Amino acid sequence: MIAKVLVELSSKNIDRTFDYLIPEILVSKMKVGIRVTVPFAHQTLEGFVLEMNDFSDTDYELKEIIDVVDTDIILNEELLSLGKYVADTTLSTLISAYQAMLPKALKAKKGVTIPKKMEHYLVLGEEGKITLNEKQEKIVHLIKKSGRILKKEATLISSSSVKTLLKKGIIKETEEEIYRLKHESNVKTKYPLTLLQQKAVDTVLNKKNTDTVFLIHGVTGSGKTEIYMEIIERLLADGKESIVLVPEISLTEQIVTRFKTRFTDSIAILHSRLSEGEKYDEWRRIARGEVKIVIGARSAIFAPLQNIGMIIIDEEHTDSYKQDSCNPKYCALDIAKWRSKYHHCPVILGSATPTLETYARAKKGVYELIELKERVNHKSLPGIEVVDMNQEMKKKTSYFSKELINSMEKAFSNKEQVILLLNRRGYSSFVTCKNCGYTEKCPNCDITLTYHKSSNTLRCHYCGYGTKLNPTCPECGEKAMSTLGIGTEKIEEQLLKQFPNQRVVRMDLDTTSRKGSHEKIIKSFSSGDYDILLGTQMVAKGLDFPNVTLVGVINADTSLNIPDFRSSETTFQLLCQVAGRSGRGAKEGKVIIQTFNPDHYAIRYAKNHDYIGFFTQEMQIRHQLGYPPYYYLTVIRVLSKSYEEAKNISSKVAEYLQKNLTKTTLLGPSIANVFRVNNVYRFQIILKYKEEQALYSTLRNLQEHYKSNSKIKIDIDFNPIHI
Ligand code: ADP
Ligand code: ZN
Repeated sequence: MIAKVLVELSSKNIDRTFDYLIPEILVSKMKVGIRVTVPFAHQTLEGFVLEMNDFSDTDYELKEIIDVVDTDIILNEELLSLGKYVADTTLSTLISAYQAMLPKALKAKKGVTIPKKMEHYLVLGEEGKITLNEKQEKIVHLIKKSGRILKKEATLISSSSVKTLLKKGIIKETEEEIYRLKHESNVKTKYPLTLLQQKAVDTVLNKKNTDTVFLIHGVTGSGKTEIYMEIIERLLADGKESIVLVPEISLTEQIVTRFKTRFTDSIAILHSRLSEGEKYDEWRRIARGEVKIVIGARSAIFAPLQNIGMIIIDEEHTDSYKQDSCNPKYCALDIAKWRSKYHHCPVILGSATPTLETYARAKKGVYELIELKERVNHKSLPGIEVVDMNQEMKKKTSYFSKELINSMEKAFSNKEQVILLLNRRGYSSFVTCKNCGYTEKCPNCDITLTYHKSSNTLRCHYCGYGTKLNPTCPECGEKAMSTLGIGTEKIEEQLLKQFPNQRVVRMDLDTTSRKGSHEKIIKSFSSGDYDILLGTQMVAKGLDFPNVTLVGVINADTSLNIPDFRSSETTFQLLCQVAGRSGRGAKEGKVIIQTFNPDHYAIRYAKNHDYIGFFTQEMQIRHQLGYPPYYYLTVIRVLSKSYEEAKNISSKVAEYLQKNLTKTTLLGPSIANVFRVNNVYRFQIILKYKEEQALYSTLRNLQEHYKSNSKIKIDIDFNPIHI
């Protein structure tokens, strides 16, 4: 018998299986989808068994499989074919697709073994004949009473007694696996649904055995989460399972607690802030059929549930649902659609601000549209005021306008809380010399360095480079280096000056890097330990604090000024999302948006909570410029450490594409937005097309052609989020 084994050869672009003999002693353990270790060249590698056969059609001498890594199947039949779909549609290697579907501990990679967490218990042994002292008596008594006790508890009574009892055989030690993540059960709570919510539930469940994609377009606070939970509960009664994707940053206590209070321990949770051990355990609980509901970030879409009844993607417009930093560059929505066909179950997309692509599809009838135009029980959406900072600057005020300061003071005097958004972390966005104008740039990247005051360092947000701030200009020698532009750190400092009696907590990448810190901030703000929550887009999504009555946007222009065709859309979404955090409780909410572009349509429509208005205008612009959803985009990036190489090859690539893609418009090659990152030069070519039969074959040929060129990397991103 032979097995076809897929291994990861990161240095080479080999994407195929190799045949290995199955030694006699492993025959009974061998299954398709398990991990094995194999000899490869002069090393031992881990790989997945993709097929078993009784013959091999290769002509080289076969080697034997060394051992099996685990006895359980890692890649079941569905995941095996899903991986092929991912590899085919993103033009990445099959092994990278499988690796992306699994937590680190289950990838086929040597050196990441995570042990199961074992708990040690004591039970009665064969009765020995000794007279017990008082402590020994107590331990034996406890075991007799409940059958077994935790060893560590017995040790607390007396560790020497435990040792003696074990030695004499009066007690025995056993061990059992326990899962790292604790899932306490809670009291069940649920609201009686409103009529609109009930109607949405019925509409979806009427098609529960079809692969329909629903879009629930509901304003913030319209009760979407309650709708999801009701649907999940009804499907549980049929024995069906559900996957719920939520944005990484809103995957906090809050939403998880809501689900846990309803579904207790039938839930598994998957997100990047868990330890590798916790992820390993959660994944196996799912694979073993011990849970019915999986809540997680992007990669939870691959959760190995076997009887899926519903896939829900909440805040579907979230850009982190697309993996774009490494291969395979897949989009969770595509995976959801594939699995919905496989399981004959619907997909629900939920959002107050769906992407243009999604809403356009819903309008065309490709998706089924469910509209919820009001908050639950007719609660009003918060009023939004736009403050023109051009006028404010003339008055020489601070970073906070008069309106914002007055509203904040009012909130504080009513013992209410405030959320402030500034979508830029650090102290200041750049450091420049007042004398000669020299600006500190990253030595590895084509980008200015951000000043972080708490560590007194200049840091690159692209490659992680860091250096101490030197007050002397390296260019002219004057002691004139100063900071310009604002970040969350600086706003925090200003807030403490402006409102010395209020308590401020900052939430951004810098304050949430440690495990548990994110949850801690949210918990303590929620319980009223702080008056102001200041942060980057992290504060905009999913949070539900009933006592927040004011949301302030310090500068709405940070995302508007990014040179990308989606910048209006992202700005509109961000403003609506953060506005939705205000007035969720009994009291009315208010929002103040500070901007230098008060007349920009993204800001005007956000002010009126007018999604349809924004959609209509933005669609016209996309139509004029030939952008999605009217055209598809694909970005080809040519990367090299050599500027010349990147430049020359990108021209050649463009020429080749031009010749072979006859129905496609080519833009570029041009230098990428950030031209150099970590000393790698980046040129990009943008492809625009409605239908291009030759696309995949042409791009595959291109990849194939440059595969063995070690100086160049060709990076392909279909339907990119950012260009
Ligand atoms: P969304 O997900 O659309 O933002 P949520 O489901 O979080 O909306 O609901 C918003 C708020 O309204 C929450 O505090 C929730 O507990 C409450 N809520 C939702 N549905 C009901 C209902 N039927 N009756 C009373 N309160 C509800
Ligand atoms: Zn850098």
